Amino acid sequence: MTDASPAAESPLPALLARLIAEGRHHAYAAAHSKTEELARVHEGAVSEAYNAAVYVADLIATGRMRHPGYDVAAEAEAAAKRVAASLSVDPAERGEAISDAIYGATAEPAPQKHIGGNAEDCPGCDGTNPPYPFICPGLAM
Ligand SMILES: [Zn+2]
Repeated sequence: MTDASPAAESPLPALLARLIAEGRHHAYAAAHSKTEELARVHEGAVSEAYNAAVYVADLIATGRMRHPGYDVAAEAEAAAKRVAASLSVDPAERGEAISDAIYGATAEPAPQKHIGGNAEDCPGCDGTNPPYPFICPGLAM
């Protein structure tokens, strides 16, 4: 018996193979699509598979992304860790968690709170142009 613990092996080569297979599938489908619209959908999927495969290949080859701009921002890292820490057994729920992690990063910022006093100094009043004498409606708002 050899020690071939699956945990000791990097999953990245298998992921790279899967992404290349995905890209090949969609490239074939794009070339054989019955409509232009369907071909474009498959071409989009090829592009996604290509980009993901490049990320994974960079990680395998160098242990990091090739370009500083490709480094993962702290918020994205945190969102990814939350997803990984609570993966559902349900594929649809896993997809939803990933979608939340992606779109949550670009969510509208929370509205500014009113601080009372002079409206000109209040972030909550900013842009609301309250009537004279320009008093912030206060903390209750
Ligand atoms: Zn205010």
